[in-house]
Amino acid sequence: MTTETKPSAAGLSLAARLEHEGSIRAADCYQCGKCSAGCPAAGEMDHPPSRLVRLLQLELARHEQAILASRAIWMCLGCETCLTRCPQEFDLPRAMDFLRHEALARGVAHRDAAPILAFHRAFLRSIESHGRLHEFGMIVEYKLRTGRLFQDLALAPAMFLRGKIALLPHGMREAAPVARIFERARAEERKTGPDEKAPPRGGSGARS
Ligand code: SF4
Ligand code: SF4
Repeated sequence: MTTETKPSAAGLSLAARLEHEGSIRAADCYQCGKCSAGCPAAGEMDHPPSRLVRLLQLELARHEQAILASRAIWMCLGCETCLTRCPQEFDLPRAMDFLRHEALARGVAHRDAAPILAFHRAFLRSIESHGRLHEFGMIVEYKLRTGRLFQDLALAPAMFLRGKIALLPHGMREAAPVARIFERARAEERKTGPDEKAPPRGGSGARS
């Protein structure tokens, strides 16, 4: 008979760190399943949200591996439907954030994380540069980062004609304070240490 051990890295399980660092207690969940039933992204997930919480509760190393390597944590939209429905107010969206950071820090992120991160980075860089989103610039950067040069290209003419996308960014006088927010965030990150490793490239990426 094999005996499963609790994860020993730094002496704390994922659930314990989630509670310690985020004040989110996996033990509060009583597995009613309301989060999974209402989650708009559950169909894209390899583990529905309530099962992820159950795996957290078990505090076993092999389950933690399964959580961190899952596609589910990258498919979460952060829509907070689960939080609204949860009778225990378990903050799944923030728990998902924690798990994504942890997956990157350990270098075990699912391959579908790559295009999603590319989108997030292109989005944030556009905001930092212009003070607001410049859709065209963001799309170009996203395509260069992912190599998906022709994806959705057929939609471009109609979007230009309808004024949904502008070639040049709209000027914004108050862009500097926005850039300072990014500088402060980077300074904070330097204090706490880098927490991201580049995920593997080339996932299929359900959302892009
Ligand atoms: S809705 Fe809340 S209590 Fe119910 S399974 Fe989901 S996290 Fe657990
Ligand atoms: S926040 Fe994420 S897990 Fe919760 S309902 Fe939305 S997509 Fe699903």
